[in-house]
Amino acid sequence: MDERGFYRESQETKSANLNCSYCRSVEKYDLKWLVRRKVASLPRHADERDRAKFAKAASYMVLLDDKVSCKLCRRTFEISGIKTTAFLTD
Ligand SMILES: [Zn+2]
Repeated sequence: MDERGFYRESQETKSANLNCSYCRSVEKYDLKWLVRRKVASLPRHADERDRAKFAKAASYMVLLDDKVSCKLCRRTFEISGIKTTAFLTD
C-alpha cells in the first residue's frame, strides 16, 4: 500500500519572518506548506506491514516555497533559517 494512503493532503499558508539575504530586512512572508495529516484509520485492505508503518506515521508538513521576493528591495532570495519540515502534534 502506498504511504500516501496514510495521510490526507492539503495546502496551507503560514506566515514566517524571513531575513532578506540582500538588504537584510526582516519581513513577514506567507509561505505555502504541503500538510499531510494522518488519517483516522487505514482502509480495510491494509496488511500487517502497512499497520506497523501506520502506527509509526505522524502528521507533518513540508515547505513548498523555496524562494520569496523581498518586500523591500524586490529581489528574490532563498528561504533559509527556518525548518522546512515540521511534525504536527494535532
Ligand atoms: Zn531585500
